[in-house]
Amino acid sequence: MNLHDKPPAIPRDAAAMILLRDREDPHVYWVRRSPTLNFLAGFHAFPGGQRDEEDSHIPLLNSEGLEDGVMRVVAIRELFEETGVLVARGVERLSLDRLSRLRDDLCLGRIGFGELLRNEQLELDSALLDEAPRWVTPAAYARRYDTRFYACWLPEGQQAVVLPGELESGEWLRPAEALLKWVDGQVVIVTPIIAALQALAAGSDGFTSRMHEVGQDERDHLESRVEMRYGIYICPLRTPTIPPATHTNCLIVGGDELVIIDPGSPYPDQQERLDRILDRFIAAGKRLREIIITHLHPDHIGGVEHLVRRYRLPVAAHRLTAEAIGGEVPVDRYIEDGELILLREESTGLEWRLRALWTPGHARGHLSLHEERTGSLITGDCVVGVGTVVIAPPEGCLVDYLASLRRFLELPNLTALLPGHGPVVATPRERIEEYLAHRQQREVQILDALAAGCHHPATIVARIYTDVATSLHQLAELSVIAHLEKLCDDGLVVTTDGAYHLSTIGHN
Ligand SMILES: [Zn+2]
Repeated sequence: MNLHDKPPAIPRDAAAMILLRDREDPHVYWVRRSPTLNFLAGFHAFPGGQRDEEDSHIPLLNSEGLEDGVMRVVAIRELFEETGVLVARGVERLSLDRLSRLRDDLCLGRIGFGELLRNEQLELDSALLDEAPRWVTPAAYARRYDTRFYACWLPEGQQAVVLPGELESGEWLRPAEALLKWVDGQVVIVTPIIAALQALAAGSDGFTSRMHEVGQDERDHLESRVEMRYGIYICPLRTPTIPPATHTNCLIVGGDELVIIDPGSPYPDQQERLDRILDRFIAAGKRLREIIITHLHPDHIGGVEHLVRRYRLPVAAHRLTAEAIGGEVPVDRYIEDGELILLREESTGLEWRLRALWTPGHARGHLSLHEERTGSLITGDCVVGVGTVVIAPPEGCLVDYLASLRRFLELPNLTALLPGHGPVVATPRERIEEYLAHRQQREVQILDALAAGCHHPATIVARIYTDVATSLHQLAELSVIAHLEKLCDDGLVVTTDGAYHLSTIGHN
């Protein structure tokens, strides 16, 4: 089987609850996921989670004929665990103290949810929930959920309280305020949350039914380009890239005019997918300005030619990229370090200020783009959301790469990383620090390997890349060579006839 034809991951069942309060002035409750989680770390979300074994045994009133009864139970239980809010018949008899003790018991595993409900003579009732549309994580992502969304009102007298752990914090706010935070780049949220907030902002009465009225066609469109920030869209397209990545993120940014960054797929079905998205933007009155290439690799430029032909678009890249790919893809204009690419939207008065950063290391002419208003950093292959970045000399240079990462850390407004592959990173500084620490750790391992008598890249790889499939050892070898070159630069290592040795001077 071709590595790139890996079937999409099977989505896991999940449920989330849109918790509301104040019917006259509706507020919605959202939580920030802990920055230390390995899925959607630092994202804002509605309380929710995965199905427990026991959930299907818990009785639910008014569930005759419902195929999603058990998922309603999941949503109610998760809401209780994560916020302390319990939506159940009879719950008004319990004091807040009692409720909070019961929640602790449940979270600490001292009691099951079913037993807790029986002991307290509480009944779950599907009629207390409204059903919002369900969403499935797009096929491009390695971790996928089939999430049922429900809405309910905060029961009289109860409070939502987030306990430190999986969640960092929780907050009540008006839907319009929540959307504004998203537009400003203060939060990272996923498509279903945006859709729910937009529907709620138009009024909480019947908002779930209005959401159900959105046609499948529109939903497919919403899913095909994830709007990570207002006016910043990510379209993961299948490409011949390096596993475990299977897709390259093509980004579309702007308001009345759009730029398209890294249309990387050479596959006709994927190009068609992007065409459909762009055609829809054009039909909505937007204009395509140009294609921007972050760097020369085939999985970032594979679809450029097609777009140039179809939409007659100019191509922009760093001079070093242009020189390297000039034969395959004509570059019309160079982007220099520090250039500002300004995009606007008349109707909202919003601006997208894409500052070009020349960030060599993965590739000599690598550009990253920093959207200064929202602090969103388009990282290309400098930082990725899945797998690791390959630094392969002679194109790659570790010294440059580390300098590029450090430059990212100096950016004053940095709220999210929008990588060339994999999901968005909502904990940008933590992730960059992790990258730096990882390279530092590799360096120590390589010095140890040299001290232990491994003098060639291949033997060093065999010693330290025990966590990487052997099919990737060739790439790992290039990575080791990048490290060795840096260590030679640093004066810690010397090389003779392709063999590397610890330098006797300068090694401390
Ligand atoms: Zn690359």
